[in-house]
Amino acid sequence: MQVLLYYLYFPLEDPETYMVEHRQLCESLGLKGRILLGNEGINGTVSGTLEGTEEYMKALWSDPRTKDIEFKIDPCDEHLFPKLSIKVRDEIVTLGLTEEQDIDPNEITGKRLSPREFYEAMNEEDVVIIDGRNKYEADMGKFTNAIVPEIDSFREFPEWFKEHADEIRDRKILTYCTGGIRCEKLSGFLKKEGCEEVYQLHGGIVSYAKDPEVKGRDFEGLCYVFDKRVGVETNFTETRKIISTCRYCNATVPEYSNCGWPNCNRQFFICPNCLEKEGSFCSSECRDHAAENTG
Ligand SMILES: [Zn+2]
Ligand SMILES: [Zn+2]
Repeated sequence: MQVLLYYLYFPLEDPETYMVEHRQLCESLGLKGRILLGNEGINGTVSGTLEGTEEYMKALWSDPRTKDIEFKIDPCDEHLFPKLSIKVRDEIVTLGLTEEQDIDPNEITGKRLSPREFYEAMNEEDVVIIDGRNKYEADMGKFTNAIVPEIDSFREFPEWFKEHADEIRDRKILTYCTGGIRCEKLSGFLKKEGCEEVYQLHGGIVSYAKDPEVKGRDFEGLCYVFDKRVGVETNFTETRKIISTCRYCNATVPEYSNCGWPNCNRQFFICPNCLEKEGSFCSSECRDHAAENTG
């Protein structure tokens, strides 16, 4: 089996009708996953058999609207999603931008760099590397030296930029995210705000990890993904290391656990020793709640 990660910004006239046809296609091929559709395009990740996923890619390439779509492909042993979900939304990636703030990457976006070019640019002097993801994703893994804006959602990014504009506007700015879709808009936003030298990692961290030359070099930790795997190995060089740490003792822990108190369920890092001592809870409050409710 394999899992596909893909997106394309393109004008989609009637997303509702497209959704109905697309659901039929995916169901007939036995795919599971999450797909968002909107007037601005498609964003999806699906798992399925080799045959099913190959047929799916062919179907999208044979549609003139999506013939240029690129797929990132990873092998997997089983479905990575519990079901198939296809939805129509205003935004195909949830950034929470207002209509006024919104960016059309087909009109304005940062220059796309290949993994090799991105690696070289990261090593130049005086560059600013901006992680375009949420903080909990970067806590699991990020590029060495990247700035992780302290924001809970992309909606807060314009405010963050305002505060830091003077430090970064005149420097060379590199942006990256998981598969590239968020940086299409993030880098476009920076250009619109007057930053001149803005670059984005084409295909995101996922493509950077697969590149036969850079092999994920200088990415620390695992790459957070939105499927059953949660974190995936990204750096296949001697620079690989784990950066996430147990919230109780600071030992390094590569993978998130979910808090055992169902009303919390938040993701946190805990090492096997502390797991045994503390139970699978993100805090003593959650442990107490769980005890009250089962005792
Ligand atoms: Zn620990
Ligand atoms: Zn909790």
